[in-house]
Amino acid sequence: MPRPISARIHLDAVRHNLQLVKRTAASSRVWAVIKANAYGHGIERIYPALAEADGIALLDLDEAVRVRELGWTRPILLLEGIFEPEDVELADRHRLVVTVHCDDQLHMLKAARPRERIDIQLKMNSGMNRLGYRPAEFEGAWERASGIEAIGSIGLMSHFANADDGAIDWQIDEFDAATRDLPGTRSLSNSAAVLWHPRAHRDWVRPGTILYGASPTGCARHIEGFSLRAAMTLESRIIGVQTLDAGETIGYGRTFTADRPMRIGVVACGYADGYPRHAPAGTPVTVDGVRTHIVGRVSMDMLTVDLTPCPAAGIGSSVELWGEHVKVDEVAEPSGTIGYELMCALARRVPVSIDAGVSSEPEARSA
Ligand SMILES: *Cc1c(COP(=O)(O)O)cnc(C)c1O
Repeated sequence: MPRPISARIHLDAVRHNLQLVKRTAASSRVWAVIKANAYGHGIERIYPALAEADGIALLDLDEAVRVRELGWTRPILLLEGIFEPEDVELADRHRLVVTVHCDDQLHMLKAARPRERIDIQLKMNSGMNRLGYRPAEFEGAWERASGIEAIGSIGLMSHFANADDGAIDWQIDEFDAATRDLPGTRSLSNSAAVLWHPRAHRDWVRPGTILYGASPTGCARHIEGFSLRAAMTLESRIIGVQTLDAGETIGYGRTFTADRPMRIGVVACGYADGYPRHAPAGTPVTVDGVRTHIVGRVSMDMLTVDLTPCPAAGIGSSVELWGEHVKVDEVAEPSGTIGYELMCALARRVPVSIDAGVSSEPEARSA
């Protein structure tokens, strides 16, 4: 018998979340962002749920090729573009749309002789200060790009620094002012802008984290009104029970002291499974469907939970670490991180199964 821990990926949840994006940004096309192996869910696993997406965006060339090999015929966008001249050949062979954020990339395209012209997304740094041309340089970059033989259509994109917590109008204004006279599709919105900034929706939106049901802010409360569904459930079982007297402590570092007699459940899940070691006492879990919380320090292979609210629970009881009942952000936030990181960090040793729901393969919809 393997350890009782496992993750389940719910394809209907991803389909539901994608539909919600499409209703929310009703006049935009959707790049489904599946970088980082679909935020830890697995590209091949998630793929059947993407049938209604207009394009797929990611940043690893290997992942892009995997998506083509799965049979995807619609656009694929490389969010960071190419990294070296040889990448142009792959982009050409697999019909990838490449982001262009600097002149080095333009030079690689200029030197290339692809069989067909390569469509690009020209990226503006409108204030994030990570990748892209400054607004003042943008039109010049567009001119240079449009003079390059290997380049086909030129879309215009930018990325927000704080769409999750505040005003982004200043970045939109920078973008609009610098692109006023340029043709091409516009793409600005990550998940947060999809949910909260309709002015940023434009021609294409680029949601990632909300497809998986996690909050762009890292705070579960902020997405309560949107009926997003968790794409991943991390579950395990109780493998041991301890009864403590008042004054006794639990686990490494003796960080938790029982203030009364307590029943404690030992769960087969630890930081080597991807559960955050920094999760403090009080972080929620459900045991046999009843909400309770962890106590004591998370160790490599186990963590401990208070069984007071569920006196009937014992060895073999089911535990949800995150999923439908405990939002991944409810674990992330007290641990000082965001749901994104926990999903991406699901450990390889955790067996993953697929809850396929009502199947409809991407091929079922014509391109
Ligand atoms: C990751 C990423 C996204 C998606 O971000 P979410 O916050 O997960 O929606 C969109 N655009 C770019 C350029 C990205 O790198």
